[in-house]
Amino acid sequence: MVKTVLVTGVSRGLGLATVARLLADPEPYHVIGLSRSFSPTYEELVKSSGGRAEFMAFDIADLAAIPQMITDLVAKHGAFWGLVNNAGIGMDGVLATMHRTDIEKVLAVNLTAPLILTKYVSRAMLSARQGRIVNISSIIASTGFHGLSAYAASKAGLEGMTRSLSRELGKRGITVNCVAPGYMETEMTKGIDVHQMASIRRRATLGLAEPADAAGAVAYFLSADAARVTGTVLTVDGGSTA
Ligand code: NAP
Repeated sequence: MVKTVLVTGVSRGLGLATVARLLADPEPYHVIGLSRSFSPTYEELVKSSGGRAEFMAFDIADLAAIPQMITDLVAKHGAFWGLVNNAGIGMDGVLATMHRTDIEKVLAVNLTAPLILTKYVSRAMLSARQGRIVNISSIIASTGFHGLSAYAASKAGLEGMTRSLSRELGKRGITVNCVAPGYMETEMTKGIDVHQMASIRRRATLGLAEPADAAGAVAYFLSADAARVTGTVLTVDGGSTA
């Protein structure tokens, strides 16, 4: 049976690595990848997937448009097997000087959009009595980091939602989990201060996690091996927070 998985934020970074990982999996996943831009790298993946991956241009900050978008996708593909809430934005800056609109944007993209996406995707999963929801958090949710208060709040919110929702959906065979990556070298983390970078590297005893490492954790939560795992956070950080 083909298992349809919706992954947000696929144009680059962890979302792109997740789709590549799922297409290489022995499980016959069909992946719908969503982001605002159709990047050349994701386009390559779609072309080489033999029809197993597709792209949809969508801005998840457009919260009002999410219900119809999901309704249309479910009408076309049936209930999804999985939802990977990966799309996210960084927006660093000390809270005291951060614009209210920037705070709202971080919370909308990183927290409210995943909640609304999950609300509509889980409705179809409830009828199917199966499904996997994977939320991409961050170690910052529990460690904190200078200049990332709004971001940390959004990720801690995702982890709280994961625990509560795992209780709501568990009886219907649906799991809800988080992957919490440590620092990964992606577009999001470009331009980080060299001194901060040196200390981040020092702490990661196994070396910095790469998007493919976190993508492997996502694949685990979608797999048969994780059928009895829910409400958890799996940290993938090269040992930084050990
Ligand atoms: P990235 O390279 O900046 O990629 C972010 C992805 O999200 C892009 O594909 C982007 O595509 C998409 N996106 C952003 N805003 C969107 C919107 N409004 N609507 C739809 N798609 C949107 O970041 P990344 O490092 O891969 O991060 C992926 C996830 O991992 C995020 O949730 C992030 O918080 C988390 N994370 C990252 C790190 C790290 O060190 N990099 C550590 C821990 C957790 P478009 O711009 O084309 O829309």
